Amino acid sequence: HDLRNEDLKDLQELGQGNGGSVKKVEHLPTGTIMAKKIVLIDAKPSVRKQILRELQIMHDCHCDYIISFYGAFISDPNICICMEHMDKGSLDGIYKKIGPIDIDVVGKVALAVLEGLTYLYDVHRIIHRDIKPSNILCNSKGQIKICDFGVSGELINSIADTFVGTSTYMSPERIQGAQYTVKSDVWSLGISLIELALGRFPFADSESDDSDLSEFEGTLSPSRPNPLALPPRTKEQRDKKKKRKSKGVSLQGGGMTMSILELLQHIVNEPAPRLTPEGRFPREADDFVDSCLYKDPDQRKTPKELLKHTWIENARTTKFDLEAWASTF
Ligand code: ATP
Ligand code: MG
Repeated sequence: HDLRNEDLKDLQELGQGNGGSVKKVEHLPTGTIMAKKIVLIDAKPSVRKQILRELQIMHDCHCDYIISFYGAFISDPNICICMEHMDKGSLDGIYKKIGPIDIDVVGKVALAVLEGLTYLYDVHRIIHRDIKPSNILCNSKGQIKICDFGVSGELINSIADTFVGTSTYMSPERIQGAQYTVKSDVWSLGISLIELALGRFPFADSESDDSDLSEFEGTLSPSRPNPLALPPRTKEQRDKKKKRKSKGVSLQGGGMTMSILELLQHIVNEPAPRLTPEGRFPREADDFVDSCLYKDPDQRKTPKELLKHTWIENARTTKFDLEAWASTF
């Protein structure tokens, strides 16, 4: 049976991203609680229909580490994607609330993401393309799952045309315009794990609020001549952008100011960030993160290969109780 917008009752706003917003809704005929993502697509009806067709692949994604899919529909001018609601939200929200994430939990996150990526690639030949803490979700059963993967080539194109789909979790080779591979997702995982373990984005040298930075996630496409000149999508975002422009585009953290272009240059030219200098994590965790963050994609392993890493094998067998952990916030 098909999902219809009329059957969905809004309960709560869950968050806003660059591409749209997400609401907690109830599917009235069945009482199912869902997360409804509303994506504004500036595209022809035929393109919208194509996107909808491509999204149907998500019906065939059955994996404990991937958000389940209930269906998608067009609600002009938006595309609505209905998915499993994860009641503890995304990991960025969680660490911003409770502080740095326990390294045992970070190990479980790494395991879940690697399993999810391996499933997507081995079974469906899908590359995620947007691994970051806001796309890793958690629920009160202690499950960790990934969402927002690139199932629809047409959707990726449309978002790239109207806005842009690039973020500061992007690998050096992607910044330099190379093709996406599963190994680009591995880089993004490495950056995300450091962010969770330290409780801050690894490139912003600050304990202070890094909301400045999050405003820039997804706002840049290096394949374009002047990405910063691209118009943001919504009026709200345009206003934000205007304000920012007058201040000069910068990422500010305690003592460090970096423009988005400087940040991308930094990722390409400087050594990759590490857990190690902080000196407080198990050696296997350091080693795992290092192997995610080889700047040369040929040296970097695939998600499937990384599942064999000692730290991940330990994370798989450890008795750590994620359900109990999730009940603490
Ligand atoms: P970006 O647009 O840069 O990718 P984002 O991932 O935060 O950023 P959205 O994907 O629109 O943007 O999601 C917005 C927020 O909604 C997320 O940060 C997350 O906290 C919440 N959210 C998304 N999907 C779900 C879900 N299935 N269950 C619960 N919360 C969700
Ligand atoms: Mg998201």
